[in-house]
Amino acid sequence: MLIKRALIVAVAAFLLLSCRAGELKRYNRSGSAMGTSLTVIFFTDDSKRANEIMDELFILADDLENRLSTKKAESILSELNSKRELVIKDKVVLETIKESIELAKVTDGRFDPSLYHLIKLWDIENNSAVPGEEAIKDRLSHRGVEGIIIDGNHVRLENNIKLDLGAIAKGKIIDELARRLQERYHIDNFLINGGGDIRLGGRYGGLRKWKVAVADPYNNGEIIGLIELENCSIVTSGNYERYFIDEKGDRYHHIIDPETGYPSQSGVDSVTVISDSTSRSDALATALFIMGSEAGLAFAEKQKDTEAIFITKVDNKIEIKQTERIKSTLNNEKKWNFTLE
Ligand code: FAD
Ligand code: MG
Repeated sequence: MLIKRALIVAVAAFLLLSCRAGELKRYNRSGSAMGTSLTVIFFTDDSKRANEIMDELFILADDLENRLSTKKAESILSELNSKRELVIKDKVVLETIKESIELAKVTDGRFDPSLYHLIKLWDIENNSAVPGEEAIKDRLSHRGVEGIIIDGNHVRLENNIKLDLGAIAKGKIIDELARRLQERYHIDNFLINGGGDIRLGGRYGGLRKWKVAVADPYNNGEIIGLIELENCSIVTSGNYERYFIDEKGDRYHHIIDPETGYPSQSGVDSVTVISDSTSRSDALATALFIMGSEAGLAFAEKQKDTEAIFITKVDNKIEIKQTERIKSTLNNEKKWNFTLE
């Protein structure tokens, strides 16, 4: 039910597309990957190869998922988690682990790739009961990136930690798909959307900015506003897709506050982060969600080339906070027109 719901609504942004696009022709395909929906759109004049390229991208997504997913027993990540130390020759996996350590440090541990035990304990997708306090406390003592020791391509896990890259790997996989499109096929105008993690290459048909809508977290299918963007990544993390409601009617969602061990209660219901990397936007969206709108906004303002939009409800009224650079582009049609430079 939850997965079905996630598949239906996981796309946290809706795309508004027009049909004409100069000389280039538009190709698009949707499917599922990483437990969510994956959509690829690109523009090319090479009609002979377009389908082949699409096939290749979806195969690559599956292949990367098979290396990075903790839900696959044979993945490199699962092997590392069970053996506790491993020589990782796979460049993408090693890079993702290193990047996750860096982002954990930058966000003061709000984004924490070592939360495997807690995430498994909560098992939001399949569970409907709150775990016991003792169990949460116990899992909290086995976390923290200090426990990930890297020497060259040898990775060792200490303090009985295990890794879960669910808040960054989707972004990384999308970045790799984008890289394949650009480097191997010289396709620069594209959009890749994996369940609300979006990478925008160039412009729509090479002509105008892409239009991405930020979903309304309180009304399924509605949007909060439109944002016009080019050449960047935009990622949304929210509490309105993956959650369970316990017998008391309280909602428990999938973003865990590493301080408390419970789903974050920062008051934020949706965070959108724009930067030049999808993996970075992905991890930061999770971290900023936990920081809350005030601390999160201050954090985002200090980061280079990073913009954020927070959606909260105060006294039953929707409140939107955004970084200054985004705010300054907001017009009275609820549209942000923004370029990351
Ligand atoms: P984000 O906020 O980006 O991430 C939240 C997720 O990150 C949580 O679900 C948890 O795993 C983890 N997390 C929670 N709190 C923190 C924290 N403080 N710091 C760091 N991480 C945290 N889902 C399925 O249902 N079936 C699948 O087979 C499946 N396979 C997947 C394979 C891969 C490679 C990846 C990356 C994800 C997979 N997922 C699967 C998960 C699914 O796509 C999730 O929706 C996604 O990982 C969560 O992303 P998000 O953008 O919704 O939220
Ligand atoms: Mg994330």
